[in-house]
Amino acid sequence: MLKKLVEYNKKRNFTKTSEPRGKQEKSNKRLRFVVQHHLARKDHYDLRLEWNGVLKSWAVPKGPSYNPKDKRLAVMVEDHPLSYRNFEGTIPKGEYGAGTVMLWDYGTWKVVGGTQPNFNNGLIKFKLNGKRLKGLWTLVLMNGNNWLLIKDKDEYHLYDDILEFDTSIKTGKTMAEISENKATIELTNPDKVIFKNPKVTKKDIFNYYEKVTERMLPFIENRLISTIRLPDGAGGIPFYKKHFENLEGYLGVKKLRSSGDNRTDYYYIKDINGVMQEVQMNSYEFHIWGSKVDDVNHADMLVFDLDPDENLSLSKLREGVKDLKKILDGYNLESFLKTSGGKGYHIVVPLRSKTTWKNARSIARNLAKLMEATWPDKYTSNMKKSKRKGKIFIDWVRNIKGATSVAPYSLRLRKKATVSMPIKWSELDKVKPDEITIDKAIRRLKNCDPWKNFR
Ligand code: MN
Repeated sequence: MLKKLVEYNKKRNFTKTSEPRGKQEKSNKRLRFVVQHHLARKDHYDLRLEWNGVLKSWAVPKGPSYNPKDKRLAVMVEDHPLSYRNFEGTIPKGEYGAGTVMLWDYGTWKVVGGTQPNFNNGLIKFKLNGKRLKGLWTLVLMNGNNWLLIKDKDEYHLYDDILEFDTSIKTGKTMAEISENKATIELTNPDKVIFKNPKVTKKDIFNYYEKVTERMLPFIENRLISTIRLPDGAGGIPFYKKHFENLEGYLGVKKLRSSGDNRTDYYYIKDINGVMQEVQMNSYEFHIWGSKVDDVNHADMLVFDLDPDENLSLSKLREGVKDLKKILDGYNLESFLKTSGGKGYHIVVPLRSKTTWKNARSIARNLAKLMEATWPDKYTSNMKKSKRKGKIFIDWVRNIKGATSVAPYSLRLRKKATVSMPIKWSELDKVKPDEITIDKAIRRLKNCDPWKNFR
């Protein structure tokens, strides 16, 4: 029985698509059916009939017709999970069935004639009670997976051209609206003030992330996250979040045991929808792990935060960034620069081959120690504030399993709406660490991606 959805699951990468994962469920007493208009490589309609806890499925290239003379080819495809009957949305490029899926009709069905339908070798007579499709229908097997879908003669000949219906039976949206707006997110309290001076509202932040997510997504997707939420807006108390509510599964979930935390559910962003939903839930600052969700035991990047002592000049800080880059260059480690949105700069090193966290930690620590040994009056690898007087702390301690660092393009919940912005190395002397605000960041998107060689 459970084997039924193996093929369905095999064909799909659930870290990329928001289609439901295949789990067999109990069938309803009243069997349900759905027809989905699926604008994929080839336009077609998918007819799905609930049976034994799954949806038996056919792709009908020309769609159903009320004319009994029309014999519509219906190609049997893999069983789909019952929850698929609610799926409307887009399947990302490169994934199986990439394109847009619209819920075109739904309702209940029953077998006619009292015999059990034979889905392997058959002739199935059935009655549909949907919104658009009603009455008696026949599915008859020709050869292989090729069936014909035919309307039987009865009192139902409701429409001459049923396919003139081109909106979702559930949401009323057109195909274009569904694909445009991957999932319409209702933004609540858009006018809530998040920063007072200059004034920035929740809507402004939502708009910012909407514009920036295409650039941001490659750095944040499929990595475990924590966020900082500010539900009460400016003046409220921010709080750190690493376990989420995940309504309707907009985030991916990963079970992980960790010491000092009795919850095992960790979360990751799967797609743009995940970012936008989190913003709707008042998460404004995103922090990421240095590993991908499919292999949380190996780091695929290193992060260094150059954190200057309070009174240190900006030029000294920039000198520190350059010194670290020189050292990394010496080891042939390509590095990328971003503003922190606060006092410092972050240097990120993608690892061309992943390494254990133990290794990542010692590489990062050794590099910081090397800086300290080479220029003892300028740098410290010791995080104690007292050791930092007049120096820069080379913060390497983020490079351990479970540690997070602020994601590229994330907003910072600081005094003003600054972001942690990727910049070119040649901009180091021109761009201050807390200079790029959401407005400036949006304007910079017109320039070419300073981190385009990151991977
Ligand atoms: Mn399909």
